[in-house]
Amino acid sequence: MKLDESHDVTFRDTLSTIDDKGKRNWVFAKKPKGKIYNYRKLFAYSLLAFLFIVPFIKLNGEPFLLFNVIERKFIIFGVIFWPQDSFLFYLMMLSFILFIVLFTVVYGRLFCGWACPQTVFLEFVFRPVEWLIDGNPAKQKKLKAQVWNLEKIFKRLLKHILFWVLSFLIVSALLSFILGAENVINFLKHPFPEHKSGFIALIIFTSAFYFIYSWFREQVCSIMCPYGRLQSVLIDPNTIVVSYDYLRGEPRGTAKKGDTEAAEKLGDCIDCKQCVHVCPTNIDIRNGTQLECVNCTACIDACNATMTRIGKPKGLIRFASENGIKTGKDFKLTPRNIAYTVVLTGIVIFFLTMLLTRPAVEANIIRDRNILPQIQIDTIVNVYNVKILNKTHKDLNLIIKPQNFKGNLKFFGDNLNIKSGKKTEPKMIIYIPKSELKNKNSILKFGIYSDGKLIEKVESNFVGPDINN
Ligand code: SF4
Ligand code: SF4
Repeated sequence: MKLDESHDVTFRDTLSTIDDKGKRNWVFAKKPKGKIYNYRKLFAYSLLAFLFIVPFIKLNGEPFLLFNVIERKFIIFGVIFWPQDSFLFYLMMLSFILFIVLFTVVYGRLFCGWACPQTVFLEFVFRPVEWLIDGNPAKQKKLKAQVWNLEKIFKRLLKHILFWVLSFLIVSALLSFILGAENVINFLKHPFPEHKSGFIALIIFTSAFYFIYSWFREQVCSIMCPYGRLQSVLIDPNTIVVSYDYLRGEPRGTAKKGDTEAAEKLGDCIDCKQCVHVCPTNIDIRNGTQLECVNCTACIDACNATMTRIGKPKGLIRFASENGIKTGKDFKLTPRNIAYTVVLTGIVIFFLTMLLTRPAVEANIIRDRNILPQIQIDTIVNVYNVKILNKTHKDLNLIIKPQNFKGNLKFFGDNLNIKSGKKTEPKMIIYIPKSELKNKNSILKFGIYSDGKLIEKVESNFVGPDINN
């Protein structure tokens, strides 16, 4: 769609991976090289190591991370979240969403290019296998166009078998975060008829991953991903994104050798298109920020290599905001960035405080309203329903003691020895001498002790006779 005849500025109104006839433009991305790519590789392989190692790490006998949605059991950093802790869990989810939003507002889609599992798997697992088997983009194009001979059949078979095996490994690792590593290994060791439904689910997920990485690929980021779709409302001219410095680069082109006059009129971009060849989403960053750009930074490395080769300063493509490029000023923290960072830090601190100060037990002591208070000579008797949940990894032997009153407690029904993750619900009778009561209604404070240590405090009310009568 041509918008401005005088400047010959044209904009696409289709995806970069779809041609005029609506057919897929297959991306044959060149392997990136450079300093930033090396950092990215290191980061991506650390994330992959995390994926495959963490399911085997235990803390206090529990998995380091577990998101068992089926049994509603969540373990984060070895801390078990019970359904009663849903508040903390929602807070954590909220912090995570806020983090992503605030991070995006300031740093754009950096998460997509560096930490998103889709990009990490595609660019650091599947594409390297493809480069290894099919070769560089020129060889890949040739192989695609050539007839089905022995070489093509062998390469295609090898690549797709490897893709399927890798998908299977990734799905198994991801499943370990839901079911636990031991369960997944057990499940894989046992014969198919014993785990029919689980095995079918594994095959379905593996096939979905295989489909994504062998065919759908960057379309996930461009079409499907809701986070990608949110970008247009989250970023603004102050957001840091991968940007082309058009003031420095334009007009692009190369002058004939010795034509210094023409060379002086040109910008630094020599139109070598290296930035386009490495782009995994098939875009030309020189056209500005685009929907498909995942901020992978491959084009920065490619352009820096070109600039070094022609003896110009690096950074023609760099991390900068639209306003930064326009004004030529480097990135500076704006009051908005500072405010967002403060809010985010506050949420994270609040969450960590709640997590670290979370009591070992969840306890409720509620007076049984179906049983009226009784007067036994000069003692008042109230009956209570006690409910205590053991949130720790060990079995607890608890004692409940009065904190602000003198009286006797008696228990019947369940006892106060609670297994890890289990609850106890005994009845409790409290005897308080009349002389100890100053009001008809008193607030009683209880201490819950384990191994002689106070681990939780609970309050309840006590109803006595009307003192004024
Ligand atoms: S334009 Fe650059 S940063 Fe954006 S996806 Fe392409 S290579 Fe990555
Ligand atoms: S790599 Fe740099 S010099 Fe080459 S076309 Fe891209 S922006 Fe221009």
